[in-house]
Amino acid sequence: MDNFVSIHRVRTPRPRSARVGFVPEPQQLPSFTYWPTFPFEGDIRVKRLLDPVPIEPPRHGDNPAECRACAAPDDAYIWVSDRWRVRALDRPTGLPAVLILESRSHLDLGDLPNMLAAELGVMTVRLERAIRSLDGVARVHVNRWGDGAAHLHVWFLARPYGRLQLQGTFLALWDDILPPIPEDQWRENLALVAAWLAEFGGRPLAEPPRINWTAPTSLADAEREAQTRPDDALEPAAAAVENDDVIVSEPAEGNGDAPDTDGPGLGAHHGQPS
Ligand SMILES: [Zn+2]
Repeated sequence: MDNFVSIHRVRTPRPRSARVGFVPEPQQLPSFTYWPTFPFEGDIRVKRLLDPVPIEPPRHGDNPAECRACAAPDDAYIWVSDRWRVRALDRPTGLPAVLILESRSHLDLGDLPNMLAAELGVMTVRLERAIRSLDGVARVHVNRWGDGAAHLHVWFLARPYGRLQLQGTFLALWDDILPPIPEDQWRENLALVAAWLAEFGGRPLAEPPRINWTAPTSLADAEREAQTRPDDALEPAAAAVENDDVIVSEPAEGNGDAPDTDGPGLGAHHGQPS
């Protein structure tokens, strides 16, 4: 957020109109439209704000029986453990990596018992490091919205190094605006992140892209290639034999935290608008 503050304070010109009214005038645009990171230019209007609905519609998965995350098999993910799974989008997008961390149990953020809440912190840091280790990644944005689906899913977006225009709020928009990265690069990035996570446990399920070897021009070339060809399979990390992925000791009792006895599936608030 430091970047936002500095961008806002240093680079943002004053809005064209300083008048304050109950309804924004059409020509009055919010200050972020002047930020260098704002992806659009030209004529822009602010949409009319609709009236609030008295009862919000259910999110996907508010009924756990219909939850796609719960129904998804492990091979839809790039890495899985007993309690967490990490998946990618179904195709490359504009950023080097966009990954989603999910709890295996059907829980939302506020439903997590203390042990899973603590593990979420460990997993968040671990996945951030894994993505940041990729070539050309400067920063990893971590977002949880939760408006669309009830099953906990935390987004990790890799911001390419040097792309200062992609800093901050609009990175998720830029992901859709930029041309998709090459599929081979995308698959390699997923495999590297999965292998990184597997160093601490769990199972990596993303594989590096197949290498398309060009036909050798002579037998000597073929022999030379055969000697230098790397293994296709990613070597499993030695530490992956340890089955469990995250070890977090439970906080001492009586530490003032909310009761943590809610188990998986006890998200009592699902489907019950307040
Ligand atoms: Zn679910």
